[in-house]
Amino acid sequence: MAPVALAPSPMTPTVDFDRDGVQHGFLRLPYSRDDSAWGSVMIPVTVVRNGSGPTALLTGANHGDEYEGAVALFDLARTLTADRVAGRVIIVPAMNYPAFQAGTRTSPIDKGNLNRSFPGRPDGTVTQKIADYFTRELLPLADLVMDIHSGGRTLDFVPFAAAHILPDKDQEARCFAAVAAFAAPFSMRMLEIDAVGMYDTAAEEQGKVFVTTELGGGGTARAETIAIAKRGVRNVLRHAGILKDGASGDGRPAEASRWLDMPSADCFRFAEDSGLIEPCVDLGQPVRKGDLLARIHPIGRTGLAPAEYRAALDGILAARHFPGLVKAGDCIAVVGTVES
Ligand SMILES: [Zn+2]
Repeated sequence: MAPVALAPSPMTPTVDFDRDGVQHGFLRLPYSRDDSAWGSVMIPVTVVRNGSGPTALLTGANHGDEYEGAVALFDLARTLTADRVAGRVIIVPAMNYPAFQAGTRTSPIDKGNLNRSFPGRPDGTVTQKIADYFTRELLPLADLVMDIHSGGRTLDFVPFAAAHILPDKDQEARCFAAVAAFAAPFSMRMLEIDAVGMYDTAAEEQGKVFVTTELGGGGTARAETIAIAKRGVRNVLRHAGILKDGASGDGRPAEASRWLDMPSADCFRFAEDSGLIEPCVDLGQPVRKGDLLARIHPIGRTGLAPAEYRAALDGILAARHFPGLVKAGDCIAVVGTVES
């Protein structure tokens, strides 16, 4: 059967991606609803272009409750000038804008998890339409794609930039070179537990240099992790030859990044119990196989023993469940192995 041609995206950008200079505008997506019959979702976008050269596509708040990327990119959009750029920078600080406005991981409009909605559909839900626009219109413009995540309300991470093991080893090497350039305190060879529908996968399948991050979490951001995001974005733009700044004060920190690996699904610990979590290790601390990572205490009555969750390999605690109460099925800990 011949593939059915997709309809054009209903998204209309109010900026011209081919014009030199700085433009602040919107990706406007029609969204008809009770309080606005001919209304739209207005996703803020900034384009900074100076002649020919590579294009970087920078996004934050793919999940609406992750804030380092949004803070760093609203800041970059406000301050970046065209004379400091060779090529083009496209900045979307809050990619899933309805979710960002609501402070939630998924969209309040359709419950869409944008990072499980790729490649998207031009005739789908609002979230699927956003995904489709990135897949078919914005990703093809880009050479370098950086999507800045954090843990959101339910997870917290040691700050790292990451890329994936890819079938194309040349592309993989370029992705890890960009991760190294980001120079977060940690750099991760990342294993996804659920890669279907991810923006990462859509970008990688188009052959792009793709960098993601996990910079903190808990549904907030800290001064330290925001500084890491701001510095990392500039470091990667400089690495790509797009940002022409010299060694200004916002550059790469002196200390080296530590490389972490996620060699197998043994990195992840999932709760099989519900209750009150007692973390037994803090983020960034070393753990050995068999060490106690957390206890989950039953809360229905007193006198019951907690369930114990132990590390399945040696490494450091790279991520943890954030809220104090846990449900069966929640990811409670991720151990990253330390590269020697
Ligand atoms: Zn995320």
